Amino acid sequence: MINLASDNVMGASQQVLEALIAANHGAEAAYGSDHHTAEAEEMLAEVFEHEVKVFLVATGTGANALALAALSPPWGAIFCHEESHVADDECGAPEMFTDGAKLIGLPGLNGKFTAERLETAIARYPKGVVKAVQPAAISISQVTESGTLYSLEEIARIAEVARKHDLGLHLDGARFANALVSLGCTPAEMTWKAGIDVVSFGATKNGCLACEAVVFFDPARAEHFPFRRKRSGHTLSKGRLLGAQMSAYLRNNHWLDNARHANAMAKRLVDGLSTLPGVRTPWSTQANEVFAVLPKSTAKSLADAGVRAAPWYELSVSLSPDQKIGSNEVFWRFVTNFETKAEHIDQVIALAKG
Ligand SMILES: *Cc1c(COP(=O)(O)O)cnc(C)c1O
Repeated sequence: MINLASDNVMGASQQVLEALIAANHGAEAAYGSDHHTAEAEEMLAEVFEHEVKVFLVATGTGANALALAALSPPWGAIFCHEESHVADDECGAPEMFTDGAKLIGLPGLNGKFTAERLETAIARYPKGVVKAVQPAAISISQVTESGTLYSLEEIARIAEVARKHDLGLHLDGARFANALVSLGCTPAEMTWKAGIDVVSFGATKNGCLACEAVVFFDPARAEHFPFRRKRSGHTLSKGRLLGAQMSAYLRNNHWLDNARHANAMAKRLVDGLSTLPGVRTPWSTQANEVFAVLPKSTAKSLADAGVRAAPWYELSVSLSPDQKIGSNEVFWRFVTNFETKAEHIDQVIALAKG
């Protein structure tokens, strides 16, 4: 079986696991006061070239929902893409942890919304009008749910709207490293220099076991976060286990190496699939995800041979009208990871060739 359904089909990397075993010895302060967590915090400050407030949590949903809760009151409006993870894949956690803020989903091709579309949406919720939820925050995903990237310019334009309306800007970086190495910029350039206020810095998908960081660039925004995290059940008593994962993830550029490998495997896959008749990829592969429209017969050959991909939403608003999925086609997402083997990718392409 070759499983490319998600990044999460893979376990943790050897480097991260070894760090966990090493951190398992002796007594350490509990609840995140350990030296591994302190080290991870220092490393993230270096990575971002900025003073940061860092909170480690066990899941991306927890990171996103708690980050948004720090940016929005219960009567707030949070603008995001209509098919974003926060809107579609978190079972209402952002709504729950904000105590009822409203997520406003914006349409947009390729998993992205524009600054212009955002302006139009914000205008529907006038400040001070008591019957309307009050614009509070914006959330963008980098990598997007369509496997694409916002350019630094696109982020800056959205950030300009955020500043103009005094809204917090959140970046869902479940695949932060994959985006970063693809853009070839620095973490600072992709975040605070472009106007991002808080980042969900993903690590689980790219080599950790279960560890993500919520990273704030303005300590004032993080003032109540220790309480929020504890109330949500994300303050691990054996906090060293999160700290050891994150510091091992960042050490010796492990996170960047992992992401480069995953992205290269996705490129190998999309290059191979693109040569096949009847196969198209409606969203450009910019990181470690390949979204492919395949003839049903091709999909059957792959499935019969034990290749696993994730059937994707055929009516996605991120597809342009000329990319509609035909009745003899399927729409699949393939995700590569830090351990994906080149020969497995080549096998998939050979099987798809038939
Ligand atoms: C995977 C993912 C998350 C995190 O999801 P969890 O399953 O809660 O870890 C968040 N955002 C995006 C865009 C993702 O792909």
